[in-house]
Amino acid sequence: MNNHDKKLKQRELGKTGLKLSCVGFGASPLGSHFGPVSEEEAIAAVSHAFHLGINFFDTSPYYGATLSETVLGKCLKALGAPRDQYIVATKCGRYKEGFDFSAEGITRSIDESLERLQLDYVDTLQCHDIEFGSLDQIVKETIPALQKIKESGKTRFIGITGLPLDIYTYVLDRVPPGTIDVVLSYCHYCINDSTLNDLIPYLKSKGVGVINASPLSMGLHTENGPPEWHPASDEIKATCRAAADYSKQNGINISKLALQYSLTNEDLSTVLVGMGSVKQVEENVDAALELQADGIDQSALSKILDILKPIKNQTWPGGVL
Ligand code: NAD
Repeated sequence: MNNHDKKLKQRELGKTGLKLSCVGFGASPLGSHFGPVSEEEAIAAVSHAFHLGINFFDTSPYYGATLSETVLGKCLKALGAPRDQYIVATKCGRYKEGFDFSAEGITRSIDESLERLQLDYVDTLQCHDIEFGSLDQIVKETIPALQKIKESGKTRFIGITGLPLDIYTYVLDRVPPGTIDVVLSYCHYCINDSTLNDLIPYLKSKGVGVINASPLSMGLHTENGPPEWHPASDEIKATCRAAADYSKQNGINISKLALQYSLTNEDLSTVLVGMGSVKQVEENVDAALELQADGIDQSALSKILDILKPIKNQTWPGGVL
């Protein structure tokens, strides 16, 4: 049986009732965030992903200065699928020009996003990289504005995203239970950094769904390496390079192994991986199906974890707290 005859597993997103494919489509590459991606490539990648069982697509007005949203909108339209067959998340508050977490800015932002996405509503609207703003403003002004947007029906659920893990406890401890439906954490549950794991019991106790993004640590765990703008230290980059080089020399696919590692934690509702081509979609869906059928290659994993040990759980600065 071909891998594609098997079905990609779905997982519940917190208490939302949404069932997300365990591999989610990160659409930042559609804004040419990691290098140029043509509209034709984008449409083909999204269509292939959908037909292979990926039902979750994540974007932001920040990616490619709104290009990702515009291109994703065209891709979804080209799918021609019923709206309830796919789940779309976008964000607000972070833009190419800077940050604006004001109620007015957020309220304007969702209308602009819906227009670019050619949708009447998104499934999740997340406040993007809140560590760059004042967390007290997020609690007192931004989240109430998000709740109003939710009441208006322009989004079904609301959430927050960011790099430092303490932003989640700060905010969730200061809003009434059930206010935040979802959090999106990135680069904290992958082969070089698994610190998100410690926060999961707390997030579960708060009833929020957990989206885990960037299993390849934004390109660190790829043969080609990360983009120029990658914020990791030289030490992290060099150690990940060593792991990628070792993998290449020993017939290990580092990206596949890294994605499979993130997918093994079933407390994470989905693992969002950035994709910009049919080939990447194929490889990533295959990696998930292979994991479902055979488990992870433990000997390759332990060798790679060993190489990465010196930088295990090291991260880089997010915004200001
Ligand atoms: P990622 O770890 O998913 O890595 C993406 C990179 O890996 C891209 O260069 C892509 O071309 C490459 N890639 C993908 N599949 C590959 C394969 N099979 N082989 C080799 N290379 C492959 O990082 P990401 O794109 O930053 O994260 C995924 C998504 O999560 C984003 O697109 C975005 O939607 C979301 N995200 C959100 C935030 C936030 O809200 N603050 C932060 C990071 C990511």
